[in-house]
Amino acid sequence: MDHPCLSCGACCASFRVDFSVHEMQALGGTVPDGLALPVNERLCRMRGTDHVPGRCAALTGQVGLKAACGIYEWRPSPCREFEAGSPACQQARARHRLAPLQGPVL
Ligand code: SF4
Ligand code: SF4
Repeated sequence: MDHPCLSCGACCASFRVDFSVHEMQALGGTVPDGLALPVNERLCRMRGTDHVPGRCAALTGQVGLKAACGIYEWRPSPCREFEAGSPACQQARARHRLAPLQGPVL
């Protein structure tokens, strides 16, 4: 069975994604410079995640059908740490009218 995230993407279209400026490529990190904007001298934010409705500029596909992170290997730490099946995941899915995930997600 495919991983549930591959037919979801709801978290990438629900929350602001802020992270340290040091994760940007320009400062030696991995996040492509064009995909995030500075919030202040310490933080950057993925483009589109503070829009209403929000949708990360790096998200490809259609939420709830087929979705993928276009910068998966280079995504920032909040995305790496986000857990499928967590309360925040379920909240994002509910926001997009997707059923909650059942059981542990590996
Ligand atoms: S972590 Fe949860 S909300 Fe995010 S893509 Fe995976 S199943 Fe969807
Ligand atoms: S960088 Fe990738 S994983 Fe993170 S919010 Fe954007 S599309 Fe989702």
